[in-house]
Amino acid sequence: MPDKNIAIIGAGLAGSLLSIYLARRGFDVTVFEARPDMRKDAVEAGRSINLALSDRGIAALREVGMDAYMLAEAVPMFGRMIHDRSGATKLLPYSGRKGEYINSISRSGLNIALMNEADKYDNVTFHFNERCTGFDVESGEVQFEGSAASDKSASSLLPETVIATDGAGSPVRQAMESQMPGFSSTSVFLDHGYKELHIPPGKNGDFLLEKNALHIWPRHKFMMIALPNFDGSFTCTLFLAHKGGNPSGSDGATEPGFDELNDEASVIDFFTREFPDAVPLMPTLIEDFFANPTGLLGTVKCWPWHSGGKVLLLGDSAHAMVPFYGQGMNCAFEDVRVFAQMIDKQMSEPPACGVPAGASPSGVPSAGGRIDWQRTYEEYGQLRKLNTDAIQDMAVENFYEMRDATADPVFQRKRALETRLEQNYPDYFSKYSMVTFREDLPYSEAQLRGNAQDKILMEICATSNELNKINLAEVRSIVDSLAN
Ligand SMILES: Cc1cc2nc3c(=O)[nH]c(=O)nc-3n(C[C@H](O)[C@H](O)[C@H](O)COP(=O)(O)OP(=O)(O)OC[C@H]3O[C@@H](n4cnc5c(N)ncnc54)[C@H](O)[C@@H]3O)c2cc1C
Repeated sequence: MPDKNIAIIGAGLAGSLLSIYLARRGFDVTVFEARPDMRKDAVEAGRSINLALSDRGIAALREVGMDAYMLAEAVPMFGRMIHDRSGATKLLPYSGRKGEYINSISRSGLNIALMNEADKYDNVTFHFNERCTGFDVESGEVQFEGSAASDKSASSLLPETVIATDGAGSPVRQAMESQMPGFSSTSVFLDHGYKELHIPPGKNGDFLLEKNALHIWPRHKFMMIALPNFDGSFTCTLFLAHKGGNPSGSDGATEPGFDELNDEASVIDFFTREFPDAVPLMPTLIEDFFANPTGLLGTVKCWPWHSGGKVLLLGDSAHAMVPFYGQGMNCAFEDVRVFAQMIDKQMSEPPACGVPAGASPSGVPSAGGRIDWQRTYEEYGQLRKLNTDAIQDMAVENFYEMRDATADPVFQRKRALETRLEQNYPDYFSKYSMVTFREDLPYSEAQLRGNAQDKILMEICATSNELNKINLAEVRSIVDSLAN
């Protein structure tokens, strides 16, 4: 590998997209992935089968011309469909404006499309079955071990710089933690885990639930959700405490947990009681429940994200979050877009001798000029950390909103009020809309404005039972006064 090469560790969603962005700017990129090539071997999709893709992620795909292609394979979801225990449903739209919705997309389909796109560039090379086993912060040397059963050989390399997109359990982050005295890292796990389950398509590939919605069965201390897949099936995810038995209310009832669902009878009993309308649609419930792993849900915060110009953490390796705002991938894609802006800025700066730092003779930015990686990493981190902290915190808050509040009449009224405000005032955005549909707005600003709005709207809806009696213009002016 030539020493001007950039090594990306991890060909997941962020690493694959990043390789395209860097290749388009003329860098030589080598991507090392621990798993086999998912285009050739059946590889588990990873943490979830499908994902909600929204505007921040779409904006990043658009810059490399992949937005329309990916959206053609996605199922639009216009709102949350709430299922109560009787099986009655209610749709809470995501926005009052037309055209604002989220998209359910296959994780492996997206990852494969990104790798295929990256492969079109001569200056990108993928190495699969190469597990990063260590990183030397001082020298920048990366150690690998073959992860294929047939080849466990060890190797190392010294690239120009390393970008670690190796996910929530990042071995590069762990190496930084053990070697950098000032490095801080915290991982906070929820008491809840998750398990994926399946609703197959009906006859002729029909969707057995409303196709264009994200379904939620909120049950206060736990919940199940379901996202549609392109083939007519739904992927359900049960979020439940790992350990049951905690008091769940004043009536002496206790919270159920995965540890209590340990045989067929207990699973059937639990699902029939809690999700009666879903059970008839889940013919492989028992097989799926015992075959599929129970995943952990955690928030990882760390700092600094880089060491000199030798290494940068990006995506989940820097800021893994719980999935309740549907933003982990969208945020990782936005990371890539913002990072590329830092590079472009440096490439376009006039150098002392008259030729811009990264400009080729034709004036098109290329990697011909050297980039000051340390400066780029520093600027990127300073700009980004505030925003990733904000979305990580909002993602945890949204767990409680989805699990508890979506079933609460005051919250439902507040969502209806927000929808009306959005219908009547095109420049009004709820917190959800600011996070999900406003790629121009930093997460930290969405959090600040959104929290202030939420507080006032909940107060209004708690005291007023009838939505029709709420004066929209008055509410609007109260909300406006918050911003000033
Ligand atoms: C249940 C669930 C649902 C989710 N739903 C959504 C959603 O709806 N919308 C959304 O935006 N986000 C969602 N997310 C979050 C999203 O999955 C992540 O934020 C996203 O995958 C981050 O991308 P990444 O490339 O940083 O990490 P990953 O996608 O985890 O990729 C990391 C890559 O690094 C590789 N790797 C790991 N270790 C090594 C090693 N030692 N050497 C070499 N390679 C290595 C891995 O094999 C993998 O390919 C969800 C997450 C979960 C758990």
